[in-house]
Amino acid sequence: MKDETVVLIKPDGVRKGIIGEIMARFERVGLKIAAAKMIWVDKTFVGKHYQDKDAYHKTVGTKILENYQKFGLDANESLGTKDPVKIGRMVRNWNMEFLSSGPVFAMLLEGPDAVLIVRKIVGSTFPADALPGTIRGDFSLDSAYISNLQRRTTQNVIHASGSKEEAEFEKKLWFKNSEIYKY
Ligand code: ADP
Repeated sequence: MKDETVVLIKPDGVRKGIIGEIMARFERVGLKIAAAKMIWVDKTFVGKHYQDKDAYHKTVGTKILENYQKFGLDANESLGTKDPVKIGRMVRNWNMEFLSSGPVFAMLLEGPDAVLIVRKIVGSTFPADALPGTIRGDFSLDSAYISNLQRRTTQNVIHASGSKEEAEFEKKLWFKNSEIYKY
């Protein structure tokens, strides 16, 4: 049984004109493109993608706090709170703004261990951590700290499902059955 995973080239990636470059990296490792389309969604739709669940907010918020700690920065100063749930909720709102600010290029990719393989090719969330050779490492330069001070999301070009469960949910959210090809 092959895995499936959802990839979204976010509005910054689409504006940079690197859709082809990104698709080539997935094709190069042999992943199959089962679906692909450009789509401009609204904030409500993005709200379904980044769900309003405290457990999710906490995971995102904790990752952010760890990043602040790593750089010796004060989360309270730039975010106004040290509560991971509140921080996660804030970031969700920024993501809802950003992902609806322009067209997104959505893909459903298929292959053995597709979720893990794609996350490896995509690289770490924050551009400073993303290694050269990964998509985020090669094509993004934003800073988590600066983007937080500016009350906006960290632009990192691409989203990829974080688990098989997430992939299943996102597949149903982003694609109709008639848009998915078996070949
Ligand atoms: P990933 O996209 O790597 O799965 P997360 O699910 O933790 O990462 O976060 C979702 C998105 O929210 C990230 O890709 C990034 O664009 C944005 N984001 C994460 N942390 C921050 C932050 N501290 N400030 C602004 N935006 C953030």
